Amino acid sequence: MGGLHLKNWETWGETPIQFLPVTPSRDELRLIQEGATVAELFETDRVRLDHTYLKLGLKGTLKKVYTRKVILDRLTEGANQLPPGYSVMVFDAFRTIECQYDLLRWMAEDAKRRNPKLSTEESWAVSRMFVADPDDKERPTVPTHNSGGAIDLGLCYQGQLVNYGTDFDEPVEKSNTLALEKALEAGKLSTSDQEALRNRRQLFYFMKSLGFTNLSSEWWHYDIGDLLWSRQTGYPKMGHKWIFESIEKEVLALK
Ligand SMILES: [Zn+2]
Repeated sequence: MGGLHLKNWETWGETPIQFLPVTPSRDELRLIQEGATVAELFETDRVRLDHTYLKLGLKGTLKKVYTRKVILDRLTEGANQLPPGYSVMVFDAFRTIECQYDLLRWMAEDAKRRNPKLSTEESWAVSRMFVADPDDKERPTVPTHNSGGAIDLGLCYQGQLVNYGTDFDEPVEKSNTLALEKALEAGKLSTSDQEALRNRRQLFYFMKSLGFTNLSSEWWHYDIGDLLWSRQTGYPKMGHKWIFESIEKEVLALK
């Protein structure tokens, strides 16, 4: 990549997040396609694995964490260049369809736990705002985590996840990447959220420098080569057709 300029680290914290359209170069597209191979994400000093869904006991969760090689390589390279004390915390990467269904169920139950006034239907609607339903007919392809192009992560400082203003997977509007930018504009940003805003910006620009796009409803969700990435890069409109499809068969053959 070579696009990482961590001298910008402090500047990133001061730069409001903007979802500007990205147009990948031909070289970038070639690199992404060449890096499409399935790869296991190992824990290193600078890349930690939380195994969030394994800990929750969700059905269909694998003990190993899989992704695509391009994501493994860029994350490793990026993590090694983070300022001293920082590391990457991966919550989840490739997800089986069985896990996707169970996560949808778990998230609906979690939404209800957090807000008991929600009806069953409402709690499922909240869950679907955060978790792709494998049966969603509107989506032209598999859920992005099943394609291996999506990764959920945050940064740690001295081993602790930094403050992002919400938990990973917290099904609330505040989890939207821009929620704290909007609070700042409205003059309603608390002191603790000032720090969270800075952390969200640094994560956003760090990942952007590695070629990832962010899903605007979740500060933790980033993509390369998949459906969400293609929507932000306008890639399908460029006369090419590919985006990452499911890697489930390849992963299950490895395990
Ligand atoms: Zn995600």
